Formats: sequence, structure tokens, C-alpha cells
Amino acid sequence: MSTSAQIGVTGLAVMGRNLARNFARNGYAVAVHNRTASKTRELMDEFGQEGDFVAAESAEDFVAALERPRRLVVMVKAGDPTDAVIREFAPLLEHGDVIIDGGNAHFADTRRRERELREHGIHFVGTGISGGEEGALHGPSIMPGGSDESYASLGPMLEKISAKAADGAPCVTHVGPDGAGHFVKMVHNGIEYADMQLIAEAYHLLREVAGFSPARIAEIFRTWNTGRLDSYLIEITAEVLSHVDAATGEPFVDVVADQAEQKGTGRWTVQIALELGLPVSGIAEAVFARSLSGHTALRAASRGLAGPTPAPLGESEAAAFADQVEQALYASKIVSYTQGFHEIATGSAEYGWNIDLGAVAAIWRAGCIIRAAFLDRVRAAYDARPDLPSLLSDEAFAREIAAAQDDWRAVLVAATRQGVPTPGFSAALTYYDTLRADRLPAALTQGQRDYFGAHTYRRTDREGVFHTLWSGDR
Ligand code: NAP
Repeated sequence: MSTSAQIGVTGLAVMGRNLARNFARNGYAVAVHNRTASKTRELMDEFGQEGDFVAAESAEDFVAALERPRRLVVMVKAGDPTDAVIREFAPLLEHGDVIIDGGNAHFADTRRRERELREHGIHFVGTGISGGEEGALHGPSIMPGGSDESYASLGPMLEKISAKAADGAPCVTHVGPDGAGHFVKMVHNGIEYADMQLIAEAYHLLREVAGFSPARIAEIFRTWNTGRLDSYLIEITAEVLSHVDAATGEPFVDVVADQAEQKGTGRWTVQIALELGLPVSGIAEAVFARSLSGHTALRAASRGLAGPTPAPLGESEAAAFADQVEQALYASKIVSYTQGFHEIATGSAEYGWNIDLGAVAAIWRAGCIIRAAFLDRVRAAYDARPDLPSLLSDEAFAREIAAAQDDWRAVLVAATRQGVPTPGFSAALTYYDTLRADRLPAALTQGQRDYFGAHTYRRTDREGVFHTLWSGDR
């Protein structure tokens, strides 16, 4: 076995296989390995001629095929399989070698693995990779964590295989140490959930309140995609909505069961936010909306509950309503990103990662699922002011929300009156109104807590902690 491969990929399902091909197409010699060796042979049979591949059937051959320091990408099912692969390969590696975990690992697992491997002199680079199988092949957005030393060895290769933004910049940055890359990938997925939910609500409103057909809504999304909402998710939404089911001739969206599934990264984003005391209400509502849609028995039992039946608007009102929905969608999107970036900033402070928020927005501009023109603006906001307390504090975003808010409120009034659920839009507006309020009823909450539990409170007019001796029969 020659020791000529510059990088190795183990785990050759859709993601690993395409990532290996991406490295090879970019001129790297790539060692490939899979637990089930037939998959390695399949890759060689189908794509072996695409580049300089070295097929390895055993872990020993795989490691022996790599030049030093070895760079070994693990693309296996996240969780226990990742630990199993590390247990198998770590004893074969040497000081200075680099294991790159490109799976969707939980950042806490990545922190543990990085710590354990560091003790043996092995670099562990938890790396978020977004863009699905197409991205893996043609250029994903890549979010590596790990040490500076490992990035020095790995960065140029990742830059080469990554997506490129419109200005030519590679969509990869060294996010920060240990689990920073997987943390940022987790929040990326949380924002993705929120984006998808908001788009779904916009569709639902255009269907139920405006009374438009899926084909007409697809056209509206296509128009939106030429403006400030220009994004991959809006683009594919138009494609999905214009798709007709071949078997029935019905709009595809009408023959799909309305129960959304999830794999867990959105849920993690919310769980971690709860642990960090962060209000990511838009992302949370997106996770809840998917789970509530799946409670079919509960939904069936509730179908007869009282409420309005949507009565679609007339044509001219409906067209005006569509413009208002665009405003509501855009304003809610700004709030989702505000919440997501707040989580990244807080995680960064909590774990000492020193994450550059502008750089994160920059690497999401291409390759990943949430790629959007909008992210250039987010990047500009953080580049101009890295300590921006919130995206809503950026003057340009604040101005846009100010211009959108009347329509945003009007859309929610219409939705409420017609009984169309809008958890994402509503959570976003509530977050916005909560932040801008002079006084919140939290003062009353503090009074209640002090009354029943002597939990104390602080005052607006004096320093210190106070407790009132409440009277009454308790
Ligand atoms: P997957 O279905 O998540 O995993 C299949 C791969 O894992 C196969 O190569 C399988 O080997 C291997 N594997 C499972 N258990 C193993 C074990 N105990 N020891 C060794 N290998 C084991 O594949 P995928 O969809 O390509 O995803 C790979 C990783 O990328 C996952 O962590 C996923 O979360 C992440 N990811 C996926 C996407 C996507 O769009 N699919 C996007 C971003 C990130 P065998 O062939 O031997 O079973």
C-alpha cells in the first residue's frame, strides 16, 4: 500500500462518497474506506476514474495509505458509530494526525472527543458540513472547529472543496476551538427549521386567507426570490409548490401527508438555548410545529373544536395581502436570525470560543441550506460592529422592520381572525414587541414570586434586594 493519499474519507454513504469525490475532483489523492467494504468497491467501480483514489478495505490499510500528518475524515452516522470509528482508528494514528468528524455530532460529544484525543496528541476537528449530498459533491459550507494547528494543515484543502460566495470567498472559516464548529452547525440547522416554518406559514396564509392555488403561490415565491428574500429555500419552495403529482394529477403538496419529521439538530438548538437561558422562540416554535403536526390522534380528536372557517379574500385584496405576507415573512426572518446569532454569541462566550459572527454569516452565503442574499447583509452588520448586541440593533435592519411592521401586524390580525395558525410569525412579533417594550409584566411576576415564595425582588428606584411581608391567610 502506497502512502500517497493527502486525505482519507471513511464512511461512504451519500455524504462521505460525495465528499471523497469532491476532494478527488479538486486534485487531491483520496484514500477511501467503509465498514462494509462492498461500498468502497462500488465507489471505485462507479467513480474510480474521476480522480486519484486509493481504496482500502481494512482500517490498517486505510491509515497506511495516508501521508503524514494524516488527515482522516469520518462521515459515519452521528453518535455511537463515531465513537466506534474513533476507537478503531485512534490506536493506529500518531502524534499530530488529524481526525475530522464531518457528521452531525452534538457539540458536547465533540468537546469530549477532542479532549480525549488531545491527550494522545491527536487533533480532533468537529466539522459542520451543510448542503446535503449535492453540496458535499459540488461545494458545501464548512464549519470546522478544533485547534489552530489542525486548521493550518486542513484549511487550504477545505477552502478548495467548499462552496464559493458570489464574491469568490470560500465558504469555510475556522469557527473556533473544540466544539465550536458543531455548535455553529447546530444553530445553522435551528435557523433552517425557523426559515422553513416561516415559509410554510407564508404558503398557508396565501392558500387559506388569499385563496391562491399552489401554482399561483409558486409564482409569488418566484417573484420574492428576485428580491430581498432571494434564497435557496424560497427557490426550492417554488419548485415544490409547482410540482404536480404524476399519479393523481393533483398538486404534489396536496397529496403529501401533513406530518413533518425531524432528525434532532433543531431540537438540540432549542435544548441548548434553554440551558443557556436564551429565548430562541422562533426556532422553538418551528420544532414544536413539526412535532404537533405529527400528533395525528390529538389532531383528529380536536378537529371538531370551534373556530372560524377561513373565507378567502377577493382578487384585489388577495394581491395586496400577498405583499403584506412578504413583509411579515421578511420581518420574521430578521427575528429568527437575531435569535440564532444570539445563541452563537452566547455559546461563544460560555465556552470561550471567540466566534467571529460576521465570518459565520459569510460562510453561510453559499453551499448551505439557508444560503441567501440576506446573509451578506448580516455579515456586513457584524463586520461593521462585531459587538452588535442584536441584529435588531443594526440600523438598516431596524429600519426595514419599522417599514414592515404595520403589514406584519395586519397579517397576524387576519390570520387570527381567520383561524390560521402562525406560530413562527407570531413568536417573532412577540419577541420584537417584548424587546421594544418600556415596561414588561415581569414586574408582576416578581411580585407573585415574592408573595408565595419570598423569592425577593429588585426595585426601580433603589439598589438592593427586597422582600415584602405580605399579609393575609397563607
Ligand atoms: P448515514 O446514513 O448517516 O451513515 C451511514 C454510514 O455510517 C455508512 O457508511 C455506515 O457504514 C456508517 N456506519 C454506521 N454505523 C457504523 C459503525 N458502527 N462503524 C462504522 N461505520 C458505521 O450517512 P450520510 O447520510 O451519508 O451521513 C453521514 C454523516 O453526515 C452523518 O453524521 C450525517 O448526520 C451527516 N450529514 C448528513 C447530511 C445529509 O444530507 N445526508 C448533511 C450533513 C451532514 P456501513 O455502510 O458499513 O453501514
